[in-house]
Amino acid sequence: MRDETICLHAGYEPDDGGPGVMPIVQSTTYRFESTEHIGDLFNMPTECMYSRFANPTVDAVEKKIAELEGGVAAMCTSSGQAASCFSILNLCSAGDSFISTSTIYGGTVNLFAVTLKKLGIECIFVDSDASPEELQAAIKPNTKAVFGETLANPALSVLDIKKFADLAHSNGIPLIVDNTFATPILCKPFDFGADIVIHSTSKYMDGHALQIGGVIVDSGNFDWTNGKFPEFTEPDESYHGIVYTETFGKMAYIVKARMQLMRDLGAYPAAHSAFLLNLGLETLSIRMERYCQNAVRVAEYFKNSDKIESVTYPGLEDDKYNALAKKYLPKGTSGVISIVIKGGKDAAIRFMDNLNLAKKEVHVADIRTCVLHPASATHRQLTDEQLIACGIEPGLIRFSVGLENLDDIISDIEQGLGNV
Ligand SMILES: *Cc1c(COP(=O)(O)O)cnc(C)c1O
Repeated sequence: MRDETICLHAGYEPDDGGPGVMPIVQSTTYRFESTEHIGDLFNMPTECMYSRFANPTVDAVEKKIAELEGGVAAMCTSSGQAASCFSILNLCSAGDSFISTSTIYGGTVNLFAVTLKKLGIECIFVDSDASPEELQAAIKPNTKAVFGETLANPALSVLDIKKFADLAHSNGIPLIVDNTFATPILCKPFDFGADIVIHSTSKYMDGHALQIGGVIVDSGNFDWTNGKFPEFTEPDESYHGIVYTETFGKMAYIVKARMQLMRDLGAYPAAHSAFLLNLGLETLSIRMERYCQNAVRVAEYFKNSDKIESVTYPGLEDDKYNALAKKYLPKGTSGVISIVIKGGKDAAIRFMDNLNLAKKEVHVADIRTCVLHPASATHRQLTDEQLIACGIEPGLIRFSVGLENLDDIISDIEQGLGNV
């Protein structure tokens, strides 16, 4: 099946006479005829037994997303933050390190630089445009993963996935890619060598600003038996001595994440959230196409305005990342545009307050056009140095083009820029 079809049909196959749409299975528990059956599930979790880590409605969505990404399995989480966090905790323990590009989502910077540090896990930030030699120099013997964002939020740099996959693999470690802004419709990182993909499903996947969520997808391609990942190849005492690679093969990473992290930390979405996420996924493919179409036109409009100092949109021919965008995001570079207004922070705030149709929200990648000033909002906690490392200037506005009529979006911008 191709993307449009996967969006509508993957993940759920009704029984004869069963409901045509995956129902909301609103239950914490599942009943079994025999004690032995339950015991068997503890050996091989092939059916849902407790909704802290598995639920049939969520499972259907997990299967759909895994198929869209071309992976072997997926696990939904209650937020994108939980997905980023678990993707690392599944590989790193106290005393380990991992590499991340510095142009990543502000919340992820916090998680990596502050919270994981408290757990004894070091994040080594690197410039995504660094040469392979410079990147190699950042790797240490205890480095267990490489992390980056396909299309960075909000810097909109494009990750050279192949370069980072080569770096990771030549060091025997996996590449984790946050594919939130691109979605599998615009880029499938596994095709370029990524091993694990994560998403904040709160953005385009949900699409309608209805619920927070995340997902981790496993390509099934990484060889965990290379000696660097004993937690995968030695008996897990917390799971009656199971060896993940032996029992679960290609699904070792996701089963381990589910049976250790989700079981113990419990950040699983509710069935109802998964049901709503599925509605978003059903139209993801056609929505992504339109976001990209609208955004190119809006980016060109900004480009031609004398009130705007610079426009960042990798889909524009003269953008710094256009060559990488052509390679990794040939169908388009999403609906998100960054602009720097002439006049700095004050002008940015005046322009935003002038807008009527475009909503001021702490959100992005939504069906409705929305705007945000990162330096005073999402990235407020970062130091000036960190802000610049993330590619954020004081007058920068993140403009997320929605699915309204294009002329209405542009008229709003035109009047908004009128008296900044
Ligand atoms: C929003 C976002 C996150 C965090 O996701 P939440 O669902 O808000 O927890 C992570 N990565 C990227 C790229 C994001 O845009």
